[in-house]
Amino acid sequence: MATVPTLMTAEIAEYAETLFTSETQELQQLLLQAKEKGIPDISIGGVQGAFLQTMVRAIHAKVIVEIGSLAGYSAITMALAMNDGGVVHCFERDSEYCTFIAEQAFAFGMNENIIIHEGNALDTLQQTELTTIDMIFIDADKPSYTKYMEILIPRLRSGGIIIGDNALAWGHIAEEYPIFEPENVRGIQEFNQSMRVHKELHPPCIIPLGDGMCMSVKK
Ligand code: SAM
Repeated sequence: MATVPTLMTAEIAEYAETLFTSETQELQQLLLQAKEKGIPDISIGGVQGAFLQTMVRAIHAKVIVEIGSLAGYSAITMALAMNDGGVVHCFERDSEYCTFIAEQAFAFGMNENIIIHEGNALDTLQQTELTTIDMIFIDADKPSYTKYMEILIPRLRSGGIIIGDNALAWGHIAEEYPIFEPENVRGIQEFNQSMRVHKELHPPCIIPLGDGMCMSVKK
């Protein structure tokens, strides 16, 4: 018998954020400082962070690529779960955000663990020689998700993980003719579909945390 999915109520979300979160005082401080600088409040949540950290630990990730880093919240969250010597490569196009990430990496003592690639990721990825990536987290411009995936999967190691954020497209993923941010919703729909049929990936899954994450493991 199929189980009816449990709806995420505000009460359940609060329970999860209280008990199963990657949030720390230092990460809260990062968010406060980002707000003071006018950086938008669109980072992943603590429950998603705990999931990403669990994946980092499960595969002993040492090389992570993040597309779209904003204030560095998710990058630093993942770096906190890595063994010494691990590196998160942050691809971020906004130079003010890149400066903020560098300041935060310094404050967290992670100068050597957070490498910032400033510019449009479609360009900077081509200029970067990264060949054995353990984990990819895509969280930038939605219409380019599939392109990022195509550029990065050949560089992902066998058994490595690829995750795309906003896989539920703000609740509009199942709409054939989306009205809300149609280009972005279609970008995510195309990405989810591409993940399903990619020959180098095992069948993906959807994790309904935050706005959803689509994840697969490379064959
Ligand atoms: N992953 C971050 C976190 O959870 O802390 C949030 C990322 S935010 C949702 C999206 C980021 O992608 C923004 O900082 C934006 O500047 C960046 N971005 C958008 N298009 C980009 C592109 N073409 N190349 C690089 N970064 C891009």
